[in-house]
Amino acid sequence: MVSPAPARVKSVVRAASLPLRGDWRTRRMPKTQINIVLQRLITALALAIGTGLLVIFTNFQNNATLAENSVLTQRPKDVSEFIKIPSLSLTSPKPHPLPPTLVQWKDSTNRGDYFSQVKLTEVGYLLWSQFPIRVYVETPKEISGEQAQTWVNTVLQAVQEWNVYLPLEVVKQPEVANITIVRKAPPLQKSPNSNIPRARSAQTTYELYTNNKVLSHRFSILLSPTQTGNYLTAAARHEFGHALGIWGHSPLESDALYFSQVRNPPPISARDVNTLKRVYEQPTSLGWSLGEKYQN
Ligand SMILES: [Zn+2]
Repeated sequence: MVSPAPARVKSVVRAASLPLRGDWRTRRMPKTQINIVLQRLITALALAIGTGLLVIFTNFQNNATLAENSVLTQRPKDVSEFIKIPSLSLTSPKPHPLPPTLVQWKDSTNRGDYFSQVKLTEVGYLLWSQFPIRVYVETPKEISGEQAQTWVNTVLQAVQEWNVYLPLEVVKQPEVANITIVRKAPPLQKSPNSNIPRARSAQTTYELYTNNKVLSHRFSILLSPTQTGNYLTAAARHEFGHALGIWGHSPLESDALYFSQVRNPPPISARDVNTLKRVYEQPTSLGWSLGEKYQN
């Protein structure tokens, strides 16, 4: 991959942290990725200072998410740059119009939601404002063509379940995707009280960048090759829910965004959609132009 010109590099905000990892079975901090902690501290400090700079060292991103490299190399390389975004240049978060598909959604059963579990990030809620949301599913190369096609179809089927609530488009080019899904084992995770690394079934991460000064985000989803059949469907459905903006977990087993895998994975629940709708009613800096002070 050819490195872009410096001007291009500067125009890209490579971002911030993984304030919540969409991984199942555990939510412990991965000890193997201390850089994440550093990154969070830096971000937190910058935010705490308020008038300070939100400093993002893009190398941290790559170091912190090694498993994403296969995805990142297909995108413009703007790494190894110290990029400073004046935090004041982030426009104050504003809501976008609610997508018609969510306007139409009415839960006659009044099941409630778990919006209180959705994390607020440094740029507000992680919602999309341009539709359709473009999705790329990478065809696995390490298995037979037939198996690869089955895998892609299974994932796409789970992804399409969300299409009822937000317009999605499956794209063939990873470069234009908003959300990329790859069959790859997430990095091993060490638990705080043990040196034995734990395997994870899936991981979802996001990064921020600017596009014509509009603050934008993109998501990468890793689905472990150990996931097959119903579990693969459930993992894809669950992680995709994170990528659509449900950046948190449900405490109820009957929701697709329940924090742990279950034997009989549920479909997308009314509570999942109620939560999604509430997210899309929230303010965000995403999808809005950066302020005048961001000149580069
Ligand atoms: Zn999750």
